[in-house]
Amino acid sequence: MKKTTGHKIRKINCPYCGIQMEYRGANRIQLGRWGLFLAHWDNWTSGALEVQIYECPKCGKIEMFRIHKK
Ligand SMILES: [Zn+2]
Repeated sequence: MKKTTGHKIRKINCPYCGIQMEYRGANRIQLGRWGLFLAHWDNWTSGALEVQIYECPKCGKIEMFRIHKK
């Protein structure tokens, strides 16, 4: 598995299937498309959000984790 800079790959299980979810890489999300969340995330100033994406290979459940920048 590839190692990205400082990003830890988590081992998480799908809550529905109980099998390990697969890491799909890091993605940058433009917050403008996620207006519903802006009310809660208004302390973010960058306008974009970097997340790690995991997907269940069985049911397709997507899980995202924010990448914390130091
Ligand atoms: Zn699943």
